[in-house]
Amino acid sequence: MGYLRKTDDRLLFLPLGGSGEIGMNLNLYGHKGKWLMVDCGMSFADNYLPGVDLVFPDPEFIEDEQDDLVALVLTHGHEDHIGAVPYLWERFRCPVYATPFTAELVKGKLQEAGLIDEVPLHIVDAHEAINLDPFEVSYVPLAHSIAEGHGLAIKTSKGTIFHTGDWKLDDRPLIGPACPSPVLSKLGEEGVLALVGDSTNVFNPSESGSEAAVRESLVEIVRDMRNRVVITTFASNVARLETIGEVAKATGRRLVLLGRSMERVVRAAKETGYLLDFPNIVAEEDADYLPRDEVLIACTGCQGEPRAAIARIARDDHKHLQLSPDDNVIFSSKIIPGNELVLGQLFNQLAVKGVNVVTEKDAFVHVSGHPGREELAKMYEWTKPHTAIPVHGEARHLLRHAKLARELGVQHTLVPKNGDIIEIAEEGLRLIDEAPFGRLVLDGNEVVSYEDAAIADRRRAAHNGFVSVSVVLDDDGALAAEPLLAPLGLPRHDDVGFYDGLLDAVEAAIERMKSGTRDSDLHVEEAVRIGIRRFCRREIGKNPGVAVMIARRDQIDFR
Ligand SMILES: [Zn+2]
Ligand SMILES: [Zn+2]
Repeated sequence: MGYLRKTDDRLLFLPLGGSGEIGMNLNLYGHKGKWLMVDCGMSFADNYLPGVDLVFPDPEFIEDEQDDLVALVLTHGHEDHIGAVPYLWERFRCPVYATPFTAELVKGKLQEAGLIDEVPLHIVDAHEAINLDPFEVSYVPLAHSIAEGHGLAIKTSKGTIFHTGDWKLDDRPLIGPACPSPVLSKLGEEGVLALVGDSTNVFNPSESGSEAAVRESLVEIVRDMRNRVVITTFASNVARLETIGEVAKATGRRLVLLGRSMERVVRAAKETGYLLDFPNIVAEEDADYLPRDEVLIACTGCQGEPRAAIARIARDDHKHLQLSPDDNVIFSSKIIPGNELVLGQLFNQLAVKGVNVVTEKDAFVHVSGHPGREELAKMYEWTKPHTAIPVHGEARHLLRHAKLARELGVQHTLVPKNGDIIEIAEEGLRLIDEAPFGRLVLDGNEVVSYEDAAIADRRRAAHNGFVSVSVVLDDDGALAAEPLLAPLGLPRHDDVGFYDGLLDAVEAAIERMKSGTRDSDLHVEEAVRIGIRRFCRREIGKNPGVAVMIARRDQIDFR
């Protein structure tokens, strides 16, 4: 039996990811016995998850409800909105909807995951409403830092929700339609029951600025530069890529692309009708041979990702390109909070080489893809929502967005947390229940729980080292041989005195046990572990992970 009844005409909102964090968006709307999923994104792991790259929302709730899940609709192709699809789709198996460019990016992912023949992927024409009973969904094109950003107008018998997706206003977006105020005003006239929207840049008092202005500025900046010019940006920003192509043309430089995601996006863009005037691309093997004044290199890694092209170039680890003094690197990107340290290191590595580094702090080389407060104010003025639920932000962003919405005359606001089931009604917003929620991570090839014991062990080993011990016991539980020890990642790990001390600690721990308790492997393991930890804490101030292997002489088969 599902959570919702067909006769229950309440309209519900349930975020499983993206509320209280920036990343891994997964939102659900519930109505008349059915659920609609909006976006299914991922985040990147931090130091808390050593060895893990990707983090996803746990879809357990909707897994149990999959018979009532009508569709997954994707607003746009950023990883925080589509990145989890290849990893989670098999858990809830429903039709997926996306516009052509987003669908092209998703297809690439499904191909790699071997799911391309399984997932029913429907390509949406943004001008036609999709009937996903009891929801009717219309894509509303909005500017964003990727081609084909969209809000969704979701009509239900209770009223219309405008789910903004990620957006900004741009009267010269270069790709896609200009700011669609008539569409938004029309929605407002027809009546918007709730606006569920992007809070990322609510602390920016002004407007995000136009892609066209960035293009003009970059042409001027590069025109004045001598020697090589490298521009790094987010590959998925097709308008910015087009700009880089235009900069190459305007400054008489040949264009080189470095980085797999750059190539992937250019292919997807051309496939769906963008970048048709993009200049011919010089093969990356030839980048180093072109005269330094005649080359423009576009590459990945603008957030300091260690394996991306610009990081490799900075540490002289790139197969095809080496920079020289007085070459230039332009970071046409935002310094995302949290990445300052790693980017600072990257800027320093380049500076030490004598490379001229230009970031958004030095010159006008970037505009954001998210709305500042002036744009948010216009959105509220056009759509006139009765209620507002801020999403796509950390707690402080959501709270500030809710305050702004009230200042702009919205009667009811509610700041959600992941797992909150919220009823949206004419009378207001009400928290009615909580759904299970959590995180999954990609560990190697396996999707496992965020709290997985293996990752906890790895974290402990990373901070406190690890000791493996092998113990052989006699029939009477006494040590039959000297234990073998392998300390890993500990100070003094190769010091004989330390090794002997560990050995004594293991022997003493076993000798101290009452003879009867030595029959139990579990008891022996526990005693040895405590002995080793106690010794390590005292001697070296570390509390290592311990693995104990126990063999009993009567069970050993000497072949
Ligand atoms: Zn986005
Ligand atoms: Zn986003």
